Amino acid sequence: MLIPKPIGGAIRGSLRAITDRYAPLQVQLVVTRRCNLSCGYCNEYDDFSPPTPYEDLRQYVDHLAELGTVVLTLTGGEPLLNPRLDDVCGYAVSKGIVVTAITNGYPVNKTWIERLNDAKLTLLQVSVDNLEPNDLSQKSWSRLKKKLELLRDHANFSINVNAVLGSCTVDETRTLVKEVREMGFYQTVGLMHDGKGKIVSGLVSDDALPAFHKEITMMSRKSVFHYFGEGWETRMLAQGTAPWKCRAGARYLYVDEDGIVSTCSQRRGKPGIPLLEYEREHLVYEWHLPKGCDQRCTIGCVRRASSIDEWRSQDGEPWDNIPPGGRPNGGRPQDNEAEPDRRLISISVGEDEF
Ligand code: SF4
Ligand code: SF4
Repeated sequence: MLIPKPIGGAIRGSLRAITDRYAPLQVQLVVTRRCNLSCGYCNEYDDFSPPTPYEDLRQYVDHLAELGTVVLTLTGGEPLLNPRLDDVCGYAVSKGIVVTAITNGYPVNKTWIERLNDAKLTLLQVSVDNLEPNDLSQKSWSRLKKKLELLRDHANFSINVNAVLGSCTVDETRTLVKEVREMGFYQTVGLMHDGKGKIVSGLVSDDALPAFHKEITMMSRKSVFHYFGEGWETRMLAQGTAPWKCRAGARYLYVDEDGIVSTCSQRRGKPGIPLLEYEREHLVYEWHLPKGCDQRCTIGCVRRASSIDEWRSQDGEPWDNIPPGGRPNGGRPQDNEAEPDRRLISISVGEDEF
């Protein structure tokens, strides 16, 4: 059962999120860009970056707490390659923030599990894409089963296993979902996309994908986190678009390994403001700003964090709230943003999707 830690902080955070529409609901913080794997669909990693220093991460957490952050998701690259991951988690929890993390599972061992237990992690997401490694992904049941058994037997935190439809055949996916269910974990499924955001069916046929997505979604056991904003995949599969109001830059932040804020992982460098200079004015500005790339956007975590405000209007830029020292041109869209570049909508599969 998913019990956020600290429970008092989670309740206070939820109330804050309801009463303050600018409070960040989820921040994804990259604690190292380095990854031990090299998935065929990923543009989120390298094989050389050092871990972000702990003192920097503490400062980021302090600032995120001041901004009213509810959930902090530690990610990478592979976050378990940062040897202070549990310290960052524990520090954020001490500030009343609910902490989750995303891993490819390979570095998981009993010591790490115990350290994350002590740090009061709430949820760990592990990606398992297929039964056996292929060109797309090495995040395979055969490689990760023993790691998942360790987690089942020793973790005090909840586990969510995310699978990407199309990374293996229909029958293999069914087997995978069944195995995960038997372990008692939460499970979510993602859709695979090309570099322009178009959903691709991978090893599932185009015709079969909508019904197969529905079947697997109904088999999944979701945590409370994953009920928010659901249903867009069905609309996207049926109609090719699923419009929404993206509140990235406010309800959701992506903070890279150098502490730079982007609206999401696929719009890196926009707005490109250092987190320690990111203030409430920036949250207000981005909350009101229509992003223009929402119609075919596939970034489920931002959709989830934005869903709480879907009923509220987003009718243009609040010129009165342009952040001091904000975007280089004073907060106004740059020329190349006036007509949104839908090519920026990119792959959002894998464990970076939470
Ligand atoms: S998808 Fe995850 S595991 Fe794969 S290369 Fe990217 S960061 Fe690493
Ligand atoms: S790509 Fe998606 S999540 Fe990112 S800013 Fe555009 S609409 Fe928002």
